[in-house]
Amino acid sequence: MPRPISATIHLAALHHNLARSRRAAPDAKVWAVVKANAYGHGIERVFEGLRSADGFALLDLEEAQRVRGLGWRGPVLLLEGVFEPRDLELCSRLDLWHTVHCDEQIDWLAAHKTNTGHRVFLKMNSGMNRLGFTPESYRSAWARLNALPQVDEISLMTHFSDADGGQGIAAQMACFAEVTRDLPGERSVSNSAATLRHADAVAASDWIRPGISLYGSAPDYPEHSSAAWGLQPSMTLASKIIATQSIDAGASVGYGSKFVAQSPMRIGVVACGYADGYPRVAPTGTPVLVDGVRTRLIGRVSMDMVTVDLTPVPNAGMGSEVTLWGYASNGSVLGIDEVAHSVGTLGYELMCALALRVPVQVVD
Ligand SMILES: *Cc1c(COP(=O)(O)O)cnc(C)c1O
Repeated sequence: MPRPISATIHLAALHHNLARSRRAAPDAKVWAVVKANAYGHGIERVFEGLRSADGFALLDLEEAQRVRGLGWRGPVLLLEGVFEPRDLELCSRLDLWHTVHCDEQIDWLAAHKTNTGHRVFLKMNSGMNRLGFTPESYRSAWARLNALPQVDEISLMTHFSDADGGQGIAAQMACFAEVTRDLPGERSVSNSAATLRHADAVAASDWIRPGISLYGSAPDYPEHSSAAWGLQPSMTLASKIIATQSIDAGASVGYGSKFVAQSPMRIGVVACGYADGYPRVAPTGTPVLVDGVRTRLIGRVSMDMVTVDLTPVPNAGMGSEVTLWGYASNGSVLGIDEVAHSVGTLGYELMCALALRVPVQVVD
């Protein structure tokens, strides 16, 4: 028998979450963001659930080829554009739309030999200070692109640093609106958080770019839960109990003897560890479901195992179902955001970290 851990991808949840994004921005087209192998889900596995999107956005050329390989003839956008001149050949051949965020990418385009005009998304650095032209240089970059025979159509984009809370998006929105006011072309500004939280960003979007919300995680947890946003988890990570121990008060569990029992207790050993993508830094108290009942992780996460408190589930034992995140068989749900929060990270990181050795099944 294979080791009992497995992940499940829920197509109906992906479909539902995409519809939720559309409801938030009924007049916009939707880029389904599938970078990082669809946030760890697997591009091929999510494709059916997301194929009603208007396009797929990602950043690896290899992933773009896989999307084309699935038969997708619609728009595909490279969110970071090309990394070297010869990438443009693939853009021409596969009709990939690409972001242009720096002068070098314009130089490469100007030198690129092609019969098909490229659709480019010109990126403004409106305050994130990662990729994009400064507001001062944006219009001259636009003019340069506009003069190139290689360029068919220019769209305008920027990315928010604080759409999920904190200082919000007002300053970046104002900057983008001011610099682009009279430029023609479609606009794309909204990630998941901006789509769900900021109607003004949605109003300024011809294309929205939801990622994390498609996968059923709230972009602004704990201010909002995924349920509060009407999102459904698209990934379950489940395993089983492979051993139990009854320990006395004062006994410790796991490497470093970090957990010490306060009273006699039963614990379960679960076939899931950091080599499966479960975070090693998850502390005692991290929520977990056993037979659909909420309990907690205890002691250190090791490579192939974690240990859980069976006090709330006295009937659990060998073979009992353990839900690390997602859906239990009894219908209970453990949100990935709650697990991530307890670990001090985000749902994004947990889903992206799902290890190759975990078998994955896709269900409707
Ligand atoms: C990843 C990414 C997104 C999606 O962000 P989420 O927070 O997952 O919705 C949108 N736009 C760009 C440019 C990105 O890199």
